[in-house]
Amino acid sequence: MNNLQSLRELLSDKSKKILIVSHVNPDGDAIGSSIGLYHYLRNSSFENVNVISPNAFPSFLEWIPESETIIIAQNNTKLSGKIIKEADLIFCLDFNDIARTEDIASRLKKTGAPKILIDHHPDPRPHFDYVYSDVESSSTAEMIYEFIVSLEGNNAISKTIAECLYAGIITDTGSLSFGCNNPRTYYILAHLMETGIDGEKIHRLIYDTYSEERMRLLGHCLSQRLKVLPQYQTAFIFLTSQDLKEFNYKDGDTEGVVNYGLSIKGIFLAAIFIERKENIKISFRSEGNLDVNILARKYFNGGGHKNAAGGNYKDSMEGTIKYFESVLKDVSKDNFKALQGLEYNS
Ligand code: 5GP
Ligand code: MN
Repeated sequence: MNNLQSLRELLSDKSKKILIVSHVNPDGDAIGSSIGLYHYLRNSSFENVNVISPNAFPSFLEWIPESETIIIAQNNTKLSGKIIKEADLIFCLDFNDIARTEDIASRLKKTGAPKILIDHHPDPRPHFDYVYSDVESSSTAEMIYEFIVSLEGNNAISKTIAECLYAGIITDTGSLSFGCNNPRTYYILAHLMETGIDGEKIHRLIYDTYSEERMRLLGHCLSQRLKVLPQYQTAFIFLTSQDLKEFNYKDGDTEGVVNYGLSIKGIFLAAIFIERKENIKISFRSEGNLDVNILARKYFNGGGHKNAAGGNYKDSMEGTIKYFESVLKDVSKDNFKALQGLEYNS
């Protein structure tokens, strides 16, 4: 990690007002890493630490200790505006572009407070004063672990911090099934376990707390809304606003659904299209060399990682799917080379 000495100096004055922000529609990594860092800073005698999320986080993360202190900017515009304005130091976690904080992006850009980025997405934008970026890392939670240990050593990882970081690593790797083919992640997990956390319980709290409606929505996705395009080795799921209404959709209910497409033999690109008021929200997942970060950036106004990315498209569901199929037709002409990193220059 570069700049460790400067970061130590930045964190030497414990009266500083510290703000931690993560991206819109926060996932387990965004919340786990933010609250993990929050606990570390609180344990290090900072009195004034706030965590802001642009919008609500899914209920399966509510068990994370002190996640109830997170300020949801969408519901607390004034308070979040004041905190952003008054912050002396801002940690930006799990995103590479301030635009990913959506409604609070312009206020964040305006502040003079130094911004520290800790993130594992490729190509961080130049809005940050200190950048700790590692695309090889499984998750931002893993990077928060490295950050805390570099600053203060192994003993600074309390059981509570370990619970938060464990949640981040587990959710961002699909329970250790992608993005973690390296021994370091497992060493870190072993150390987190040594603090006394109950990994099995955390797994149950995250994955075994579906509402009946969420379970039935999943069934609906797989039986009624899954389309397989074998000619493009692609499978996609689409959900209309009517579907969401019918199954009483709550934030986080479609988390992970996109991955099912990849479970089909011979499929290496999976997508989910979800109808929202303003646009169609899209998630992509891929296996192997196909870079969905490029697909999302180039064609769908988004971004992400090589094998997990997202974006949006302003059209009807039908129009969006047509457009997606035309993109596939185009890129498949050259055997998907356009999405294999060769044209990565945007
Ligand atoms: P998900 O599909 O689970 O929403 O997101 C997968 C990955 O893509 C995450 O790393 C997330 O940060 C990124 N991502 C999702 N949607 C967008 C988007 O609209 N823009 C950008 N730049 N990244 C996105
Ligand atoms: Mn992440």
